[in-house]
Amino acid sequence: MSHAAAAKLLSDHAGLQRRCAGLPGVNKGSKPGEHIISVRCSSVSVAPNQTRPALLLLLSERPRPPEGSQGDQKQAGGPKPLRLSNGAREIVLQGRGPPLGDGQVVTDEEREWRGPFCFIQAADPQLGLMKAWRVGDCDGGGDEWTEEVRLMQQAVRAVNELRPRPRFVALCGDLIHAMPDSPFREEQEKDLKEALRLTDPDIPLVFVSGNHDLGNTPTPATVEQFRRTWGDDYFSFWVGGVLCLVLNSQLFFDASGCPQLAEAHDAWLERQLQSAAHSTARHVLVFQHIPLYLRTPDEDDEYFNLQRVQRASLLRRFHQAGVKAVFSGHYHRNAGGSHGGLDMVVSSAIGCQLGDDPHGVRVVVVTADEIIHRYHSLEQLSERGIDEDLKKLLA
Ligand SMILES: [Zn+2]
Repeated sequence: MSHAAAAKLLSDHAGLQRRCAGLPGVNKGSKPGEHIISVRCSSVSVAPNQTRPALLLLLSERPRPPEGSQGDQKQAGGPKPLRLSNGAREIVLQGRGPPLGDGQVVTDEEREWRGPFCFIQAADPQLGLMKAWRVGDCDGGGDEWTEEVRLMQQAVRAVNELRPRPRFVALCGDLIHAMPDSPFREEQEKDLKEALRLTDPDIPLVFVSGNHDLGNTPTPATVEQFRRTWGDDYFSFWVGGVLCLVLNSQLFFDASGCPQLAEAHDAWLERQLQSAAHSTARHVLVFQHIPLYLRTPDEDDEYFNLQRVQRASLLRRFHQAGVKAVFSGHYHRNAGGSHGGLDMVVSSAIGCQLGDDPHGVRVVVVTADEIIHRYHSLEQLSERGIDEDLKKLLA
């Protein structure tokens, strides 16, 4: 990288940190015991008058509300196997309640390896950032998002045309730009859902929460808001013999506004990882918004990675559980690395680019032995579909 390019990169970083540092930290409004929450599952309704089921219903068990809280009692009834209800019947979601292998969904055929398949990983449609970035006001400048909607629509059309059909699309956070309780948030959510409504109903959408979706310092209220709008902030599911864990990385980044949620998240993760290590999963994959690291596991802390202590601990736990890859976004550039057989995949954005990458998504091919992934520009994906060499792996 040239000196000038490096300087530009650094100034971008500093600029983003300065301008997007986001919401004031602490959940001043929440009272003890107010955390958690809603009961049951969250559903994504894409349009009020839509007749067919929403793109994705994430049905998953909530952790038990902490003792003494006013948490919803109606969720009793115990863990249940969970299903997508948008036509992708085969994918079974497993809620955070039951550990793997407890007999809940063991017989489901999605636990069995049935040959190679592909899925799409994408990140940061972040409706509103392109204008905000252009005018240099990330906190208040995102009052237009026509371009992001167009890009999202382009991505949806391109993905719908792919053959073989991707088994799912994971949108790794920062769905919209407006932080919780900021202007334009509802409008951005509505417009993103409208764009996503055109997704082939046989391709489930998996929503991952980002810092703009939850706030940089999430609170019980903002997490609950996300759950109501997009579904659970963490859950796992099986697809074709592969176990996928969707995490809320904001709880790793700054849990000072919702320590109990972070505790529940971590306890759930621990159970999932322990079970995964002994499961029959062909591969274990993780999806989260913030990368563990951008290039090397020992790099310094910064806005775009997780702090070193968290990072080291998660790397160790993921290794032990046999996780093959962690897919993330947040950086608005392609990056990543590989460490002891664990790929850290950082994908650029569907929306605003902060580097030289084109708007795009990542095609991920899962074979019996490998996870092969490659970023495709939206233009390329629209015009030529998946690269031929990747397609051959799926034949
Ligand atoms: Zn982000």
